[in-house]
Amino acid sequence: MKEGIHPNYKECTVTCACGNTFVTKSMKEEMRLDVCSACHPFFTGQQKFINRGGRVEKFKKKFNIE
Ligand SMILES: [Zn+2]
Repeated sequence: MKEGIHPNYKECTVTCACGNTFVTKSMKEEMRLDVCSACHPFFTGQQKFINRGGRVEKFKKKFNIE
């Protein structure tokens, strides 16, 4: 019964520059991405994000913010 709510949406094959492909719903049948959830810095660099805390600590000590 839910079919027809998004009549213009169809199976869309998304191809990322990293080689990852997945299927989603879109107006287009095909899409190309530069980044996806598999290679986006937010996901692949998550560990680096956490490690930045060390820099903040150095920053605090440098300016005596405790
Ligand atoms: Zn990707």
